Amino acid sequence: MDQFEALAHAIAKAAQTKVYSAEELAEKEAIQAARKHEAEQVLQRINNKLLNQRLCSHLRFDNTTHTVSVNDGEYLICQGCQHLIYPNAEPEVYNRHIQMGAPVGF
Ligand SMILES: [Zn+2]
Repeated sequence: MDQFEALAHAIAKAAQTKVYSAEELAEKEAIQAARKHEAEQVLQRINNKLLNQRLCSHLRFDNTTHTVSVNDGEYLICQGCQHLIYPNAEPEVYNRHIQMGAPVGF
């Protein structure tokens, strides 16, 4: 076998597709199912957070604002639900909470 032939054999061997046993396939499927389950849980947490933000009034129980100003009024963040309130996106909500005295300077 010359060098070229040896190299051709090595390449052909490296290119062979791995054949999985039934146990290996079952293990791979179990891992994929676990990943899918985790992804669904993450998606559920994100959807729950978004729902909480839509339902949150951004007010404390005493009806004072639960938001604080960030970057000198660039936006407000609700300390209850972490929703960001930008003046361009939600001017009414932003102005209402500024007028309620959202603390500035964070
Ligand atoms: Zn909120």
